[in-house]
Amino acid sequence: MSEAPRPVDVLVIGGGQAGLAAGYYLRRAKADFVILDAQDAPGGAWRHAWPSLRLFSPAQYSSLPGRMMPVPADGGYPSAADTVAYLTDYEHRYALPIVRPTTVHAVRRGHERLLVETDHGTWHARVVISATGTWWRPHVPHYPGIRDFRGEQLHTTGYRGPEPFAGKHVLIVGGANSAAQILAEVSTVTGTTWATLRPPRLLPDEVDGRALFDLATRRHRAALTGEATTGIGGLGDIVAIPAVREARDRGVLKAEPMFSRIIPEGVAWRDGSALSCDVIIWCTGFRPTLGHLTPLRLRGPDGIIPTEGTRVLGESGLYLLGYGDWTGPASATLIGAGRTAKGTVTEIMRQLEV
Ligand code: FAD
Repeated sequence: MSEAPRPVDVLVIGGGQAGLAAGYYLRRAKADFVILDAQDAPGGAWRHAWPSLRLFSPAQYSSLPGRMMPVPADGGYPSAADTVAYLTDYEHRYALPIVRPTTVHAVRRGHERLLVETDHGTWHARVVISATGTWWRPHVPHYPGIRDFRGEQLHTTGYRGPEPFAGKHVLIVGGANSAAQILAEVSTVTGTTWATLRPPRLLPDEVDGRALFDLATRRHRAALTGEATTGIGGLGDIVAIPAVREARDRGVLKAEPMFSRIIPEGVAWRDGSALSCDVIIWCTGFRPTLGHLTPLRLRGPDGIIPTEGTRVLGESGLYLLGYGDWTGPASATLIGAGRTAKGTVTEIMRQLEV
């Protein structure tokens, strides 16, 4: 006989930074809640990032509510491991009720509650916050010939460091921070080419993630008030962390416009010439991990789930947290996740009082 669904007021799916930020405010509001996380240890996507990854934001600007991320011993930008250590400490410090490893397979409508089906039984929740991130759905754009390439192709998620590529020509695709950081270190061991859709924008040395967050906040306020904003860049612009500066000074940060197709031995450019390469690293981003919401049939014709703030328009007991600007300004960053979680939990607590 299967067990009866376990009741809970608020169920958070995902125990990465967005889920923890929600947990912090739910704990403060004395809510009845649980966080289900598919990983077997804390840290969310940061556990899987390549070891040399550096945040583009300093520790003071990479913190969740309540507790500052410690500044690394070398005074520089935190690494992925520093971030995992911080998130591990965070969830213990606030004694967040996280159940892991537990994977949510499906969320369905039940009688006045949402049914959350997992690999360890079913939950019955009044409100669900989905905070499952994007790392689990890497995006590689389709180019003609992509299946015929005879070399190796990998996405950012499969990158562990430059060593395996020594002696091979590596094509790096993508115009944001991941591409620039990976290019910076692969180019220290071998020949590289960089291809981007638009000319990449390298920020001045004195501008780092903190200025971008300030700008994202100003843009958000301006969107609410209808004012115009100006500023130096956006979260997709490249922060000149030391490794990137060093690569710029070596002259390797020169981007080519995108190729038109992939050929077995490399890529063909729009002018008809070709580049031979052994490896293509796709630093081409991610899509939201939302497969568990499929049974609710929430997607609009454009494939997007419509939201007002973080609340899903077609399902009043469902919130989306941390996926990108469409679920809160800079919500897919450490500092932005906290700001968005605060408003979301306030709204949820009001909803639960009714
Ligand atoms: P995640 O960290 O992915 O956590 C989601 C959790 O949900 C995971 O533990 C996952 O296992 C779990 N999950 C997924 N599906 C299910 C399911 N069905 N059931 C149960 N659990 C599930 N941000 C910054 O602030 N500064 C930076 O410098 C910065 N650099 C970045 C560099 C790179 C290369 C990338 C990719 C991102 C960077 N970000 C940065 C952005 C952002 O901080 C991260 O993407 C962050 O990991 C997002 O956190 P999250 O909690 O939304 O998702």
